Amino acid sequence: MNCDKCAATIVAGDERIHQNQTFCEDCYMVALSPLKTCDPWAVHSAKNFERLAGDKKQLTPLQAEILEKLKVHGAMEPVTLLAKLGVNMQLADLQRDFSILRHMEKVGAEKQGGTILWRLWA
Ligand SMILES: [Zn+2]
Repeated sequence: MNCDKCAATIVAGDERIHQNQTFCEDCYMVALSPLKTCDPWAVHSAKNFERLAGDKKQLTPLQAEILEKLKVHGAMEPVTLLAKLGVNMQLADLQRDFSILRHMEKVGAEKQGGTILWRLWA
């Protein structure tokens, strides 16, 4: 008897049946535990966290707050962010700080439909 996958000879009694196929021991193990797909999101989060934790001191309190809000609430429209920050300032001022953060590669903007969303740098 031969393995359906690698064609190795299987000693009678050692064959493994998986999804109607006969496998040798090795191929059976592989079939049962498919290669783990990498998890880019986990890597990404860790990186982001380092970045945020690493140089928070270089940011103004407002800039740190912008990052914090985007981190907690996810992408949002500029006006929504302004409301969440609860600060008395113009959107144009917020945009200035946002563009500073963008140059530092901490935030980004994306277009969804007709709206611009601000989000953490991805
Ligand atoms: Zn095999």
